[in-house]
Amino acid sequence: MPGFEWIDSNEKDNVLHLFDNGGVLFRHGFDSIRNGVFMVQDFEEQFRTAMGSNNALAVSSGTAALKVALEALDVGPGDEVITQSFTFVATVEAIVECGATPVITEIDSSLNMDPEDLERKITSKTKVIIPVHMLGTPAPMVEIMRIARENDLKVLEDTAWGCGAKLQDSFLGTIGDIGAFSFDYAKTLTTGEGGMVLTSNLELFEKAKAYHDHGHENNPNLPRWEDSRSGSGFNYRMSELQAAVGQAQLEKLESIVKHQRKIGKEFLENLESPKIEFRSEPDGSQSSFDAFVFFVESSETAKLIRSNLLANGFGTKILPEAVTWHFAATWDHIPSVREQLDATNDSLEKSKYYLSKAVALPISKYTDSASIKEQSRIILESCKEPQ
Ligand SMILES: *Cc1c(COP(=O)(O)O)cnc(C)c1O
Repeated sequence: MPGFEWIDSNEKDNVLHLFDNGGVLFRHGFDSIRNGVFMVQDFEEQFRTAMGSNNALAVSSGTAALKVALEALDVGPGDEVITQSFTFVATVEAIVECGATPVITEIDSSLNMDPEDLERKITSKTKVIIPVHMLGTPAPMVEIMRIARENDLKVLEDTAWGCGAKLQDSFLGTIGDIGAFSFDYAKTLTTGEGGMVLTSNLELFEKAKAYHDHGHENNPNLPRWEDSRSGSGFNYRMSELQAAVGQAQLEKLESIVKHQRKIGKEFLENLESPKIEFRSEPDGSQSSFDAFVFFVESSETAKLIRSNLLANGFGTKILPEAVTWHFAATWDHIPSVREQLDATNDSLEKSKYYLSKAVALPISKYTDSASIKEQSRIILESCKEPQ
């Protein structure tokens, strides 16, 4: 459920606080007029603490977080980066932006990365693995970390959809070498546009920080215009306005996730049926239930469920309706994805099998028990209709 549903006077008050104290909208400098207000720095510190990581870097978007993390990991031309077939297109765009080659794995019944296929797709060129915690459910990080360590590879967790979810006792985004979060308008927390990079590796953090700020090292002994440079970078900085909103959103994370889990549990109870199979999860998974995902017998039934829900004023989320933006086999507009799949003669059949019969229900602040019962009734009825 998106953080925008939870915006109230707290976000507004934080923005007013910023303007009441000099209104400096830039994360660095202007010390004499900002009255000690550093929204981005504070947001980073609060997020880092909440997630239990050593270092946090706020950036301008989730896509930027992925790009900055890949740059920190020294990914470039000639490198292969492995991610999964079911993700938002941004994951692959970040790889392509670095000049690297995206390699796509299958997903399994968890709708996350299939570790067996990951092992098959590692080559001498592989540098980084990007598991994506799709729709709030943890990727199989134990297996992925083992495979990565055995092959001397780095792991970047795309946690755009996993903010607040845990595996065992660790928040998603803190298990791999580096994690990328999104605060876009539809995500669990929103800053309008925005993102965060988390890493407990200080060297990676320093690289990410400089890269996201034109290579600035922010040497405390030099004015910014004379600052030392670590290398070529880019501008992926977060603005003070975004961070003002982000601080208020972060305070709500626990209650948002708690609410989502309660709704998820109710859907589980109400949809219990031999006609329905639930998404599998790794041991110790504490999904944030960004959406409620299940499988039915066929793609026809999945589509029928969607149209019957729509006819009754309900909707679905990404599955089945928006799968093309989230399924690599359809991305013919990104040549390196097509070339790579063609070169390995891979049509991602396993992913197609699971995605074609999956349905995702949105979980909103306003989803109440009555609507869960009504949606479940429509779904179970739809499963019975002859096709
Ligand atoms: C939303 C999303 C992103 C990109 O985040 P933006 O903040 O929109 O740039 C990246 N990966 C996944 C899996 C996402 O869902």
